[in-house]
Amino acid sequence: MGNESYEDAIESLKKLLIEKDELKDLAAAKVKKITAELQTVSSSDSKTFDPVERIKEGFVTFKKEKYETNPALYGELAKGQSPKYMVFACSDSRVCPSHILDFHPGDAFMVRNIANMVPPFDKVQYAGVGAAIEYAVLHLKVENIVVIGHSACGGIKGLMSFALDGNNSTDFIEDWVKICLPAKTKVLAESESSKFEDQCGRCEREAVNVSLANLLTYPFVREGVAKGTLALKGGYYDFVNGAFELWGLQFGISPVQSI
Ligand SMILES: [Zn+2]
Repeated sequence: MGNESYEDAIESLKKLLIEKDELKDLAAAKVKKITAELQTVSSSDSKTFDPVERIKEGFVTFKKEKYETNPALYGELAKGQSPKYMVFACSDSRVCPSHILDFHPGDAFMVRNIANMVPPFDKVQYAGVGAAIEYAVLHLKVENIVVIGHSACGGIKGLMSFALDGNNSTDFIEDWVKICLPAKTKVLAESESSKFEDQCGRCEREAVNVSLANLLTYPFVREGVAKGTLALKGGYYDFVNGAFELWGLQFGISPVQSI
């Protein structure tokens, strides 16, 4: 399954749907259930989550309350973007930077991935992240790159839990979180006897520092930092206590500022 093309993947899915009678039954039952719901329950008192309706309502609300009330901003954004920030944040549904930092459209160019990690410069393995950093730094000329970790991060818990001995039990996750293995090594060396939750908390912050260091492996980032046109910052959002920490990387780690 590993290297099949997307055409092969679609063919496999078709075959699976044709071959698996139980899947056909499942699909038929689902259609029946949806039809029954539509006939007996009006949409206003339905407790069933409707994903299409949710998206429609979300966009209508945004358009009415934000887009149409701010023609100046959206008029400017129609011409182009010049964000001041590039932000790395976790894919976790609880930590959206636009919400927690009140960013508006046009403010931040964003990459979100498992455990907000920045991999080192690697044209083959990490071209997706590399392309985003290259575009942000060389074309958008962002002035700040902020890597934001967070409390109770599943990706960091994975990094701390996985054996990472080459016998992977996941297709992607272990290889990905291994990017911040130096953070795990440091945390284990410094707090071997601490509780696992505390080690994870330390690693959530330490992994941000590994990512900041990895940013310096990109020549255009290094150059921007050396020229003073680009600043690298670490952040940590604690959603259990509603707190945010911010620190800088200027030839060493600057003191943490709690907000
Ligand atoms: Zn996370």
